[in-house]
Amino acid sequence: MSKKNVAVIPGDGIGPEVIGATLKVLEKVAPNTFEFHEVAMGGNAIDKYGEPLPAESLKICQNAEATLLGAVGGPKWDNQPPEKRPERGLLGVRSGLEVFANIRPAKIFAPLASACPLRKDIAEKGIDFIIVRELTGGIYFGKHEAFKTPEGERAARDVMEYSEHEIRRIAHVAFKMAMGRRKIVTSIDKANILTSSRLWREIVEEVAKEYPEVKLNHLYVDNASMQLIRVPSEFDVIVTENTFGDILSDEASQIIGSIGMIPSASLGEGNRGLYEPIHGSAPDIAGQNKANPIGTILCGAMMLRYSFNMNAEADKIENAVDEVLKAGLRTPDIYTEGTKLITGSQMRDEIISRL
Ligand code: NAD
Repeated sequence: MSKKNVAVIPGDGIGPEVIGATLKVLEKVAPNTFEFHEVAMGGNAIDKYGEPLPAESLKICQNAEATLLGAVGGPKWDNQPPEKRPERGLLGVRSGLEVFANIRPAKIFAPLASACPLRKDIAEKGIDFIIVRELTGGIYFGKHEAFKTPEGERAARDVMEYSEHEIRRIAHVAFKMAMGRRKIVTSIDKANILTSSRLWREIVEEVAKEYPEVKLNHLYVDNASMQLIRVPSEFDVIVTENTFGDILSDEASQIIGSIGMIPSASLGEGNRGLYEPIHGSAPDIAGQNKANPIGTILCGAMMLRYSFNMNAEADKIENAVDEVLKAGLRTPDIYTEGTKLITGSQMRDEIISRL
């Protein structure tokens, strides 16, 4: 059987450390299954090729079934002109892969419950939901305009626009995801005010008819931001448009604690996906063996689940992470008194030994 083709972008700073750990985990959980193609992108690509995303790099990602990305950027490239900045490579790869659904899980690992800033009785009920955010439409991609009113006053407008197919395809992603979970979808909008939200609600309800086992709830975004803090345990899959999702997913990442622990996936048509931790290249700790590889290792698990349908192997990785945390082992970013401090590579090895 031919191996599964995965593009790998280690990137800059701690990127190569956390990606290196993830490739070892994947090789252990599914030996001889993947063919990894390493690709230059970000600051290292600027140094080598004079541009953040060489055409050849993007081509390799487009030909792959999945792309794993560490992180890019760092002070060395901060003074580059905008088109030569590492982040430009990031946007280029996201748009080049045509990924329209951003998936961010918000799950609290029981041994890290003390990192949750919410009241103990709320956190103890468990937090395990997923935000499915529309990534390529809405106000960020609508018409942006600065103009003068007839009275000569400065004014500006940004247009929020969604078409039926954009809403329909993201709704399907959410409902399919809910089918493999607790079967609850919460669609978040502002349908009491926005016409685009009323269309959003109408289409989501149409799509829901194809998934009769899934319970659909609607919430206005202002109320949703409160309920995420008040009763986070009640959420399973949240689906929402680009801007609302941007804000709510940052709120969710704070609810569950450390930045080094959180993976994300961006999905397009079919099984193609881009998997990256939510953290950056952390230049302050790069090369010191302090980086927590868990966020990226969990990206590996998401890749197995969403691009390759290898749910048993994904479960194994997530359980191994859980066990390491239960054993009290901690990289510096999640260390608390009474736990055991270990390095990034020790964390990698401890996870691998539990697979
Ligand atoms: P950052 O996420 O890199 O770091 C913020 C803080 O969190 C730092 O103190 C860092 O040490 C810590 N941290 C981050 N990941 C960690 C991990 N895995 N383990 C332990 N600690 C971790 O954000 P920043 O400092 O604002 O940005 C640094 C660089 O990364 C910038 O050049 C920025 O543009 C870039 N960046 C890239 C991405 C990406 O590639 N997706 C995302 C955000 C920022």
